[in-house]
Amino acid sequence: MNQDLLKIASEALKKAALNEEAKNFVLQNDTLFQTLKKAANRYIGGETIEETMLCIKKLNKKGFFVTTDFMGESIRNEQEACEAKDEFVKFTKVVASENLNSSISLDLSHIGLLVSKELVTYHLKQICEEASKINQEVIISMEGIDRTDKIIEIYEDVLKVYSNVGITLQAYLHRTKEDFRHLSKLQGSIRIVKGAYDTPKNLSIPRGKELDEIYLSYVEQLLASNHKCSIASHDTYIHNKTIELIDKYSPTNYVLERLLGICNEEFNAYQDRGYKCRIYVVYGKEWYLYLCNRWAEYPQNLFLALADIIE
Ligand SMILES: Cc1cc2nc3c(=O)[nH]c(=O)nc-3n(C[C@H](O)[C@H](O)[C@H](O)COP(=O)(O)OP(=O)(O)OC[C@H]3O[C@@H](n4cnc5c(N)ncnc54)[C@H](O)[C@@H]3O)c2cc1C
Repeated sequence: MNQDLLKIASEALKKAALNEEAKNFVLQNDTLFQTLKKAANRYIGGETIEETMLCIKKLNKKGFFVTTDFMGESIRNEQEACEAKDEFVKFTKVVASENLNSSISLDLSHIGLLVSKELVTYHLKQICEEASKINQEVIISMEGIDRTDKIIEIYEDVLKVYSNVGITLQAYLHRTKEDFRHLSKLQGSIRIVKGAYDTPKNLSIPRGKELDEIYLSYVEQLLASNHKCSIASHDTYIHNKTIELIDKYSPTNYVLERLLGICNEEFNAYQDRGYKCRIYVVYGKEWYLYLCNRWAEYPQNLFLALADIIE
């Protein structure tokens, strides 16, 4: 497909994702809401914990590890941050009572990063405390570059008390070289992603060969040292190279990771060949932004959406 056209589509979808007016229109128009929900269903575990448990159960049954995120970010008031924290704690309790396998993934800005450092640290510790009772990991997602320093600082503080907390690093940021050098000396797990947020010029490496090489150099260091890690990508080239590295170093502490609804067949095949695979499941009512982001990063997904809607 024409690359320029895809770029235009991607930019338009990014704008649609952030357009409050469009979002409110969708939320208030039941027909449109139900139509788009059909397209969202392939990417989300459900709107509620109960629906999501069914999804996790199915994935666990097929042998997949799961990590789950209650959708939301950039919360600016204490009460909503506290409600989000409560939801994560509740999620852990339900995972324990249903005896399922799912770690937690979360954005710190969902549980208070933009309110205060004290609040977000307190919330993260509460979630880690509950999760530690069932040996469950809590993996912090990485947000825009204006938040990176704060996120790493809070991660390091909490890791001193809870060894079940992990962090995501974005290979596309130049600063990640230094962050990686430092954080890979600590015990917490590291998820490597390419990076999804726009950055000011010269702070990041665009998609391409150079980024792939840097990404894979982080992966190799993690696998060679058997550092607890996840390789989170939908890129077949990255996966194939990672599998060569897994075969070379025979690590035990890794997972290959993808988002629910993307690269399903590929992951089924890795799973069948005995590689450890984890599916990132999101749930909640805030799926509109999430859906637009999945379209924006790969506009060809709009064709799948059409099929999902018409089916
Ligand atoms: C589990 C997980 C957690 C993540 N957490 C974070 C985070 O905390 N912070 C952050 O900045 N980013 C995060 N990301 C997003 C990540 O940074 C990338 O933007 C995203 O994974 C796309 O990059 P890629 O590695 O697939 O490679 P790309 O170079 O973007 O894509 C390579 C190829 O993968 C396929 N592909 C990519 N996206 C899709 C899609 N949506 N649908 C179908 N095919 C696709 C296409 O074939 C594409 O050509 C996460 C991703 C995953 C899988």
